[in-house]
Amino acid sequence: MAKIRIGPDDVLSMTVEELERLMEREGQPRFRGAQLFEWLWRHGIGSYEEIPVWPKPLRQRMAQEYPFHRLRLVESQRAHDGTTKLLLEMADKQRVETVLLPHRFGYSVCISSQVGCAMGCKFCASGLKGRVRQLSAGEMADQVSFGNHVLAERQARVSRVDVMGIGEPLDNLEALMQFLELAHHSQGMNLSYRHITVSTSGLVPAIKHLADSGKPVTLAVSLHAPNDALRLSLMPVNRAYPLDQLIPMSRYYAEKTGRRVTFEYLLLKDVNDGEKEAHELGRLIGGFGAHVNLIPWNPVAEHPFQPSPKAHVRRFQSIVQEYGISCTIRRELGQEIDAACGQLRLREEEPVSP
Ligand code: SAH
Ligand code: SF4
Repeated sequence: MAKIRIGPDDVLSMTVEELERLMEREGQPRFRGAQLFEWLWRHGIGSYEEIPVWPKPLRQRMAQEYPFHRLRLVESQRAHDGTTKLLLEMADKQRVETVLLPHRFGYSVCISSQVGCAMGCKFCASGLKGRVRQLSAGEMADQVSFGNHVLAERQARVSRVDVMGIGEPLDNLEALMQFLELAHHSQGMNLSYRHITVSTSGLVPAIKHLADSGKPVTLAVSLHAPNDALRLSLMPVNRAYPLDQLIPMSRYYAEKTGRRVTFEYLLLKDVNDGEKEAHELGRLIGGFGAHVNLIPWNPVAEHPFQPSPKAHVRRFQSIVQEYGISCTIRRELGQEIDAACGQLRLREEEPVSP
């Protein structure tokens, strides 16, 4: 049997048009491509054998020539509030974490975009081992599909996707763009772009690319500090893309797509949570309709910070609001299973505790 491909020539990473071309190369009618896409993403099949409308020889030939691997569940943990963390294994045995989060509107799924992360933010667990590898578009889409599979038991479906798990999605731009197309397509999971949020540490040229792509996803920018000196001490990416590039580009994104940009702001006790920083933030981003989401920090043993006390968080929020900026505090979900986005950890060496 042919080796399972990880990357753009894996059928799970192909768009309808690419599958149509592949089927034509195989001497098949074009419509088989759309059929395959539909069976992969609407029905979530695990093998070609599950396509009843295909003749057996075709199923056998495809299994031989284009084998695919669906994510395999290694471990799942469910918290009382319904938050569910999934540890999923890819074809090369690398593992990825995906989290299902309950909301009033239904469920969102928080997916990973890389194994590890190269950005080295000083408060984050995902970057501790650096970037191990990129995820393919299919591996990203399959996390959403797996979420649907789990939610089917609860008579629910994924209604929003946050690309906010392990990794920096804009450091894997090509696969991300392909993933957006797969997730959006009406013959597949049919998610609207506005229901997909891409979170970035601030790769400015990639934000421009996304803004001009015609895929108006919701953009979340991890800001975490209102001035360059403080931001640089927390996020090395600020050296390449300082605030005088990042803020205008975020504004450009909002104007180009008509979508409100969210700034994420992690609160670290006595580091970035003072009144001074709140005022600075208000002045920095006031006036273009952006939203601020304050994130309580989930402690990471390897990093020296403390989460901000609740009183600091509320004070920070009310100062930001004085600038006419809408500002919310992120709900903490699934605390007993460590499931909050951004705190996902690779656990190849550490077993997941029951
Ligand atoms: N790389 C992207 C997306 C993944 S991180 C980004 O940085 O935006 C998703 C969010 O979780 C980011 O805002 C990140 O700063 C935040 N985060 C990282 N570590 C965290 C922690 N320990 N507690 C809470 N949020 C954290
Ligand atoms: Fe990477 Fe985001 Fe973590 Fe920074 S916060 S190390 S960009 S995953």
